[in-house]
Amino acid sequence: MKYKSLPEIKSKLQDIRSRLLGGIEKTIKTSKDEEFTQVIPDSADEASRSFSRQMLLNLGEQDHEKLVQVEDALYQIEHGGYGTCKLCEEPIPEARLKVVPFAQHCVACLSVIEQDQTNNRQSGSDHLEAF
Ligand SMILES: [Zn+2]
Repeated sequence: MKYKSLPEIKSKLQDIRSRLLGGIEKTIKTSKDEEFTQVIPDSADEASRSFSRQMLLNLGEQDHEKLVQVEDALYQIEHGGYGTCKLCEEPIPEARLKVVPFAQHCVACLSVIEQDQTNNRQSGSDHLEAF
């Protein structure tokens, strides 16, 4: 699915990402682990993905989940598959993606998932997608 606002959505995602990573950087500066002194890459390529996953250890769980979703979204914009609901595989409406650019499910599936999570008492990530 081609989204007219894709450049806008992408830059929104990059904003969110750098804000989240900026939070990590502060943590790194106070960390004595030398592994973390390397520069954070700008692109959403595989290297930055795996790198980010190391950094996630320093994030709170909510930020952690959010960053994973943002990384996935950026990856999908570059490599295809962005905006497809992970559950029903229908395209997610552009209006929703403009509000929640890292959404991975359409609203209908999201409410099903949230219902599930409430029932199972699991802490999941999809509540982050809610409007
Ligand atoms: Zn769906």
